[in-house]
This record gives sequence, structure tokens and C-alpha cells, in this order.
Amino acid sequence: MSDCIFCKIVNGDIPSAKVYEDEEVYAFLDLSQVTKGHTLVVPKQHTKNIYETHPQVASNLFARIPKIATAVKEAFGADGVNIVNNNDEAAHQSVFHLHIHVLPRYGQGDGFGLKWEDNSESTTQEQLQETAEKIKEKIS
Ligand code: AMP
Repeated sequence: MSDCIFCKIVNGDIPSAKVYEDEEVYAFLDLSQVTKGHTLVVPKQHTKNIYETHPQVASNLFARIPKIATAVKEAFGADGVNIVNNNDEAAHQSVFHLHIHVLPRYGQGDGFGLKWEDNSESTTQEQLQETAEKIKEKIS
């Protein structure tokens, strides 16, 4: 897409710090470097977000994540890696070309955080079943 910044990066029209490329996928350092080695992995084929992504494009994209995440982790001796994909502004998507963040982790205070509430104590089996039914109805 002509006005997409990640398409321009994939096409070499604007510079990037490339870490990996093949026929389907391009990976490069995120400018923000939330943690050292923070990498973005994108499909070369433009797709706006996860909902609009063809299963084969998603499959090709995620198939590359294990080797890229392993390399990112090993390059700087990280303790772990978070894999993050944001969809829609409400979920902090700011670039509308599907991308996977690979975020190496170096312990508390390394720059990345997830607020992750545990509601298991207040959630019943009935509520879980009801919620599962609503989602199942939407899976075609
Ligand atoms: P998201 O908020 O999930 O859409 O993430 C978009 C990411 O793209 C942000 O972390 C930005 O720092 C990053 N970004 C935007 N422009 C560039 C660029 N030209 N090169 C590398 N990373 C970029």
C-alpha cells in the first residue's frame, strides 16, 4: 500500500535496521527500542490487522517467530521474550500494517510492562461456559 510506512520499509523506500528477510516476511528493529533488541516482524503482503489477515499469511508470519525470537533472546542474553500483537487503536495499534513485536526481557524495570489481572477467584464455571458459548457462535 503506497501510504503504509511498513510497506515502504519492506520495499526499501525508507531505511530500517533489518534483522531478517525471506520471500514472505521482513523483520527489523522497532525505532522505540522499548527493550534492547525490540524487533518487529511483518508480512510483506499488506494487511491492516489480524482480523483481515488471510490464514496463510498469518501462518507464514508466525512460522518465522520461533527462530527470530530465539535469535533476539540469545543476542543480548535476555531472560525471556514477550510476543505482542496490537489490533485497533483501543489496543494501542498505531501502524496499520500487521506486525508482531518481539520484546526481549531483562527483568523488572526493563522498560516493558503488562497489566494482567487475575479474576480466577471471582469467575465461576457457569460464567466461563457462557462466555465460551458467545465466542463459539462467532467462529465459522
Ligand atoms: P503498534 O503500536 O503496535 O502499532 O506498534 C508500532 C510500532 O512501530 C511502534 O512501536 C513504533 O515505534 C514502530 N515504528 C513506527 N515507525 C517506525 C519505523 N520507521 N521504523 C521502525 N519502527 C517504527
